[in-house]
Amino acid sequence: MNKIVPFQNKVWLSSPTMHGPELEYVKEAYETNWMSTVGKNINEVERLACEKVGCRYAVALSAGTAALHMAVKLAGVKPGEKVFCSDMTFDATVNPVVYEGGVPVFIDTEYDTWNMDPTALEKAFELYPEVKVVVMAHLYGTPGKIEELQAVCDRHGAIIIEDAAESLGATYKGVQTGTFGAYNCISFNGNKIITGSSGGMLLTDDEEAANKVRKWSTQSRENAPWYQHEELGYNYRMSNVIAGVVRGQFPYLEEHIAQKKAIYERYREGFKDLPVTMNPYDAKNSEPNFWLSCMLIEPEAMCRQERGEQEALYITEPGKSCPTEILETLASYNAEGRPIWKPMHMQPIYRMNAFVTREGNGRAKTNAYIRGGALGKDGKPLDVGMDIFQRGLCLPSDNKMTVEEQEQVIEIVKGCFL
Ligand SMILES: *Cc1c(COP(=O)(O)O)cnc(C)c1O
Repeated sequence: MNKIVPFQNKVWLSSPTMHGPELEYVKEAYETNWMSTVGKNINEVERLACEKVGCRYAVALSAGTAALHMAVKLAGVKPGEKVFCSDMTFDATVNPVVYEGGVPVFIDTEYDTWNMDPTALEKAFELYPEVKVVVMAHLYGTPGKIEELQAVCDRHGAIIIEDAAESLGATYKGVQTGTFGAYNCISFNGNKIITGSSGGMLLTDDEEAANKVRKWSTQSRENAPWYQHEELGYNYRMSNVIAGVVRGQFPYLEEHIAQKKAIYERYREGFKDLPVTMNPYDAKNSEPNFWLSCMLIEPEAMCRQERGEQEALYITEPGKSCPTEILETLASYNAEGRPIWKPMHMQPIYRMNAFVTREGNGRAKTNAYIRGGALGKDGKPLDVGMDIFQRGLCLPSDNKMTVEEQEQVIEIVKGCFL
């Protein structure tokens, strides 16, 4: 192996990739003085989103989180009501449920796509048949088992809110994510596959719902000569300046996806002799957007790693490694990786919430049992989210990373297993 020297320019997990037209649309907003939450860029990005995703209505908002909040409101979640939520996800999937006073019940993850497990969801309906809303994310741009999840929800009369914040452009059986739920969200946060620096959208086929969100997100103003209010309002609309950036990015979505896919495939090839696998997807039915490339270390190849609430320790061993060792080593070479999103049921803020695995088991009863890494009847860990969190990590996935840089990242990771 050649001697590896640290990267001169930091290799990022996923950073914004600008192309030029973004600036033109921002400049146009400036020069025409549409420097507010109305204007041509906003109309245009809503049109582009509908066209790309294949939904009837898109409402441009200040963030994906705001879109999820509006979705939870549309779904009619009331204080004290339980809502089934993806467990291994970013906390923005879940927090909007709590904004409305709802109580998230976390549904464990499956190993095939790292998304909500339909079997666990079915168990959850056995435990809590009254639940009417399910919030599911497509983690790292990989579509979940959407048909199976939909079938479970249909059987129990529940609606889906799809958090497609990470999966814009990904498809399941040729259909874009962000169209499967009643109310869905995408995000243009700075690290997403395309970005406005911030921003998000609510997507729906329901005209009345879209109109409600247009109203709620602009302070719920009634049609009157003065500020007239009958409902609680929010200041959630997207700025026409931000929309200019998003507008400039949209034509590059497919290019970004192709770059991300090439990164994923180079990692898969580069790691084929290591005791690791990549974040999996259903190659027959789905096409991810490959937003983040992740790896999972085989259980036998894990060295000892202990994670507290704020820090992690590990003991290195020949032939073995762990996410902490790999992430620290990457950082020492000026490359950014990240742990797998820590499951919500492991988060201090949500530790007391119910958590349902594929064998049922509301969390309160089995907390100590599953925490020890207990196995299910099938011999696999019962707490899948915790297992993936312990053994997995997100690799540098920036689409501006050169092939040479990526090859060096691969060598650095390989070095951890020596
Ligand atoms: C980024 C993200 C969000 C939130 O989007 P913002 O635009 O940052 O508010 C929600 N859910 C998931 C899964 C995300 O990754």
